[in-house]
Amino acid sequence: MRIRVLGSAAGGGVPQWNCACRVCRQARAEGNFRLQDTAAVSGDGTAWYLINAAPDVRAGILDTPELAPGPGLRDTPELASGPGLRDTPLRGVLLTTAELDHTLGLLSLREAIRLRIYATATVTMALTSVFPVFPTLAQYTGIDVHEVSDGIALDGGLDVQRLTVGTKRPRYARADLSEEGLAEGGSPKVGGSGPKVGESGDGRGLGSCGRGDWVSALRLTDRATKKSLVYATCLPEWTEDFDAFVDGADEVLLDGTFGTEDELTLMTGRPGTARSMGHLPMSVSREHAGRHPGTRFRFSHLNNTNPAVGDDIVADGDLL
Ligand SMILES: [Zn+2]
Repeated sequence: MRIRVLGSAAGGGVPQWNCACRVCRQARAEGNFRLQDTAAVSGDGTAWYLINAAPDVRAGILDTPELAPGPGLRDTPELASGPGLRDTPLRGVLLTTAELDHTLGLLSLREAIRLRIYATATVTMALTSVFPVFPTLAQYTGIDVHEVSDGIALDGGLDVQRLTVGTKRPRYARADLSEEGLAEGGSPKVGGSGPKVGESGDGRGLGSCGRGDWVSALRLTDRATKKSLVYATCLPEWTEDFDAFVDGADEVLLDGTFGTEDELTLMTGRPGTARSMGHLPMSVSREHAGRHPGTRFRFSHLNNTNPAVGDDIVADGDLL
């Protein structure tokens, strides 16, 4: 199994375009940038999947040699315009949330010949009925949306288990998704020229959207080597379920949005603790991680207020 980090920043990236905080100033001075949270994963090095699609996903893909299209121009001129020109190792996109910083990049993938997207019923509903990314994308390319409840098998020998770790809705969905709205009209519009929604077309699973499978952690297991990695770059709390989910994993990529509970206020003067914003601070995660000595924990999804450096902080381009 190979995991390539395309982007290791929280929403806004590092530096954020309109921020002159210490971390952003230093990043500009050093040219040390972080794109927003996206990774590419493959079991066999041939079939690749994105985990999330950040607004700057195009830059991340261009920086990732494994995702280069091919075979490209053929020797024979007659074949030069054949399908080989648009062959891509990218087989699909797995979404861990419906947040803008994880999904806007889908629109930048509209040149795809087809695009397969894996998401929970909750995330699918949000991106279909509230913020219509899927119907919009479907006007440009064929998309297949597959509902992920507990697990899926991917091409290239990867199995994926999913765990709901948070129920915080994206800001755009807070007003629209009242319990009443969900009961009356919250089901995804499917059929026609719109996106094909896996097995969720009957509305099954939408009943749980009041709470909702908004934020997921994914455990990726290589069927051949049994190596496993947990991707949990948005983690509001370290629950017993999450503790069991990471148990025995070789690697875990954790939420590094904030280093400490009060970081945002200290750095910007704005109110709000890390946990109130849906992100367990690294200081707390490290205590929990210490109970799993056989597992390597690293942090990604760093906010531009987080000055953390060290061996357990990933950078764009890292191969895990
Ligand atoms: Zn900043």
